[in-house]
Amino acid sequence: KLSDRLATVANYIPKGSRIADIGSDHAYLPCHMVKKGAVRYAIAGEVAEGPYQSALKQVQLEGLTESIVVRKGDGLEVIEAGEVECITIAGMGGTLITSILEAGKDKLVNVERLILQPNVGAHAIRRWLSEHHWKLVSESILKEDGKIYEVLVAQNGIGEAVDSDVDELELLFGPYLLKEKNEAFREKWELEKRNWQRILNQLEHAEQNDSTLEKKRELEKKLKMVKEVLS
Ligand code: SAM
Repeated sequence: KLSDRLATVANYIPKGSRIADIGSDHAYLPCHMVKKGAVRYAIAGEVAEGPYQSALKQVQLEGLTESIVVRKGDGLEVIEAGEVECITIAGMGGTLITSILEAGKDKLVNVERLILQPNVGAHAIRRWLSEHHWKLVSESILKEDGKIYEVLVAQNGIGEAVDSDVDELELLFGPYLLKEKNEAFREKWELEKRNWQRILNQLEHAEQNDSTLEKKRELEKKLKMVKEVLS
């Protein structure tokens, strides 16, 4: 059985598609999808030797070598343009996910859907998507084992006019998550708020130079936004 986090990612995978799961580790997600008959072909990509071996082993163990190919490589270099309709990248920081997308842009032309699950830094992904003709179509936030995770779903908008005039509040909090403001959302941002407040207090007591002043201004701006959202 998949974790709630990966099950949330799985729910957004279009039925019958071909997928690539980048940073697949044990390849649990592709194995689950193929076993269920929900996808017809999957690529599990891994950059690190240990997790690559784990993925190979898992796919063999489950007897899925005909439908799942495990490839070792950095980010999207393990896929050819046009091989898959959907890409999942889960369990990494938002900055790393963004850099994988940026480095592999050429591979994304025929990809229809991206399902991204950053552990932190979802705003970096939202910004990248909005700047690269990807339309955010859904978001989820959930808590599992004491940690809060976000899942972002984007559709390829090439050829369409995508609104690149994005709102700062929506970039940081997520347009769909902002509408719902569920319990996990409130908990995540309450924690961030306290964290930013603590850093700001420390800066108040530090030497006041240009760098501290700039950091303080940035934190004050974010605190103002988070207070507004949680009020
Ligand atoms: N996707 C699985 C999940 O969500 O449970 C595994 C997440 S695991 C914490 C992150 C995996 O990403 C690691 O196995 C790591 O080796 C892999 N990884 C990190 N950077 C990568 C990159 N540039 N290309 C491919 N895999 C990468």
